[in-house]
Amino acid sequence: MNRPWQKNLINIEPYTAGEQPKSDDIIKLNANENPYPPSPLVQKAIAGFDAESLRLYPPMDAAPLRRAAAKFYGLDPEWVFAGNGSDDILATAFRAFFNSPEPILYPDITYSFYPVWCDLLRVPYKTIPVDSSFCVHTEDYYIPNGGIVLPNPNAPTTIALGLGEIEELLEHNTDSIVIIDEAYADFSDVSCVPLVKKYPNLVVTQTLSKSRSLAGMRAAIAIADPYLIKYLDAVKDSYNSYPVDAVAIKAACAAFEDREYFEETCRRVIATRERTAAELRRLGFILPDSGTNFLFVTHPEHKAEDIFLFLRERGIYIRYFKKPRIDSYLRITVGTDEQMDKLLSALRELC
Ligand SMILES: *Cc1c(COP(=O)(O)O)cnc(C)c1O
Repeated sequence: MNRPWQKNLINIEPYTAGEQPKSDDIIKLNANENPYPPSPLVQKAIAGFDAESLRLYPPMDAAPLRRAAAKFYGLDPEWVFAGNGSDDILATAFRAFFNSPEPILYPDITYSFYPVWCDLLRVPYKTIPVDSSFCVHTEDYYIPNGGIVLPNPNAPTTIALGLGEIEELLEHNTDSIVIIDEAYADFSDVSCVPLVKKYPNLVVTQTLSKSRSLAGMRAAIAIADPYLIKYLDAVKDSYNSYPVDAVAIKAACAAFEDREYFEETCRRVIATRERTAAELRRLGFILPDSGTNFLFVTHPEHKAEDIFLFLRERGIYIRYFKKPRIDSYLRITVGTDEQMDKLLSALRELC
């Protein structure tokens, strides 16, 4: 068939997410979801939600969510932006902040959505190699650039930079916007949120998908100087003036209000992570110390793809990336203690 318009179609490699299992008895450790339910206050907020109110559009700026998040961090609400998951916020931020002819910088091994957005939004980029232990060296980022995006801790490597290193990165890049993607920061002991008052070019994104168990809901926040928040609002209002729906706003507010539950579930995930990491090392696996809710592991005697398929046959789904530099590694989300025991006993069988 003659399709002369074909040359104008987008040429893009979309992001691939972890497989969604068809059956319920799968142990799903492939998308870094939280094994615990959201706070009981979220359950209550949804159960008590007045469906009649859905007649109306939600508040345009998700103001209740901005207030709840601001209160949690001891900031004024003008410092907070809200969106439909941090993927939505990051895409908005790329549009708002990355408009330079200079390339933006991010590590070669990182969240694989960044190249997708760069291609989609035609943002030039340059990847900076992590070292052979997957560490990011901030001095590699002291070059001309149109912006920087860096997850801290990095994914899928699990490694976190310290606040001192992030400050050095910021001090050497006062001419560009630096986005720190804190999707997993709640599982580490580092967060850049306190730095936003000191660095007007810093944007911190956080999601409720991981540490607050709301991946199915789509809600996230960005924290930055109000001057930058205004630009995020302008971009958002240019293509979708109502980003977060009314149910999600209610649920997300409830999640921010229950600090105790949030801290307790993070503690449990961290404890399970540390125990699992120690057991995996005993089985001969090699892995960096994780500041996230997942582990990035390799085994000197077993091919990553073989382990992935072996576990898959036993109903345990983990993530394998057939990509340069990391194709001998596996990413395993931290589940409940019981799920990790099943994983470990399957791996004992293999090793
Ligand atoms: C999961 C993840 C996100 C996005 O999460 P949302 O569900 O869209 O909020 C962003 N960055 C990294 C590094 C992630 O792992």
